[in-house]
Amino acid sequence: MSKPFFDVAIVGTGIPGLAAALGLAQQGLAVALIGPPANPYVPTPEAPFDPRVYAVSPASVALLERLGVWASIDPQRFCPIERMRVFGDQGDELAFDAYGATVERLATLVEEAELLRGLDAACGFQPAIKRFRRSFVSFISQTDSAGISLEDGSEIQAKLLVGADGADSSVRAAAGINASIKSYEQAALVANFECAKPHQNVASQWFTDEGVVALLPLPGNRVSLVWSAPVDLVPELLALSAEHFAARVGQHCPSSGALVLIGGVYSFPLRRVTVSNLIAARIVLVGDAAHVIHPLAGQGLNLGLGDVALLLELARTRESFRDVADQVLLRRYERGRAEAVGAMRFTTDSLARLFAVDDPFVRRVRNVGMTVVNRLGPLKNALIRQALG
Ligand SMILES: Cc1cc2nc3c(=O)[nH]c(=O)nc-3n(C[C@H](O)[C@H](O)[C@H](O)COP(=O)(O)OP(=O)(O)OC[C@H]3O[C@@H](n4cnc5c(N)ncnc54)[C@H](O)[C@@H]3O)c2cc1C
Repeated sequence: MSKPFFDVAIVGTGIPGLAAALGLAQQGLAVALIGPPANPYVPTPEAPFDPRVYAVSPASVALLERLGVWASIDPQRFCPIERMRVFGDQGDELAFDAYGATVERLATLVEEAELLRGLDAACGFQPAIKRFRRSFVSFISQTDSAGISLEDGSEIQAKLLVGADGADSSVRAAAGINASIKSYEQAALVANFECAKPHQNVASQWFTDEGVVALLPLPGNRVSLVWSAPVDLVPELLALSAEHFAARVGQHCPSSGALVLIGGVYSFPLRRVTVSNLIAARIVLVGDAAHVIHPLAGQGLNLGLGDVALLLELARTRESFRDVADQVLLRRYERGRAEAVGAMRFTTDSLARLFAVDDPFVRRVRNVGMTVVNRLGPLKNALIRQALG
């Protein structure tokens, strides 16, 4: 029996995987979307917002607009970030604002569930996308296509296989692409709070002796926490009652006023994943399959959507090539992403390591460094441009 044949098979139904499937199908390509369905957070009256939220850059919003998905996201559920304040552990401050960067907003805070729902619904309306709601297992690269095996023993063929299957990517492993994985010895605790003082659309981040604590503005008088805490401290923090946890967060974030926890506290181990290549024969990696960075700059998903934007741009030029998996196109993809991924990895990794050092001299230097960057317009503008995407 002949196997179903597609132009592109995408493994992974996270945000980059769904966005890639949608964009390629909109270009008229036949797409196989492989993976268990996404399981977005369901709001409850007690916990109306998803604890997983993303600071989505203007470049990512532009991609979601082009895909026709942004308009489907309820504007009552997202919040513009107009200013960012970063505090060192000796009180020094670095501030960025939309006005100074001559943009309307620095980023937009959106729930993961809203993005997943919007993308999933749009994919559902695309006849060119066929869903395979099971796991990818392996593939064999052939002359004109890749032969892909799924967990139930079924097989499909595709000219191009896109690995959007996250940090532990099976596609990456099956393609023999090396990944160097380093633990940050930290876990990110995420939770939502009601706050006594209005956040005024400001995202704040404190480098503290208990890790990096960020409060991101949600609609209304609510904020979302991302606390990158040393692993040794995490069991103690997770064992605290709701009141004690809120008070502990509040000790690090004096400007937020009293905090009241809404819903649960969730933890995610933090690691860096660096891959040797973003491509192999008939293979492209996007999203966390291609790069995992520290969340202190809130840029991992933005990088993944940047991958998708370039993939879509290159796929549009495919008529001039043998097929959509032509090596020239794949090499252009790899070269095109190298700078953005490398620069963001360098920035986040350097900051995470610099603020993990507990030496009084290093502490002073890094704090003075923040004040200096704050006063140096060109350097500050370069950082803003990197974050805007
Ligand atoms: C605490 C925290 C806060 C963050 N905040 C931000 C932020 O503010 N802004 C930002 O830009 N980024 C942020 N990030 C980064 C962001 O979460 C990730 O970059 C993004 O979720 C990666 O999406 P992904 O789809 O590539 O991977 P994942 O979300 O891991 O999804 C992988 C998908 O692949 C599927 N899959 C896996 N294996 C298989 C298989 N064998 N077969 C089929 N399917 C498979 C899974 O089911 C899943 O659907 C944050 C990260 C953390 C930890």
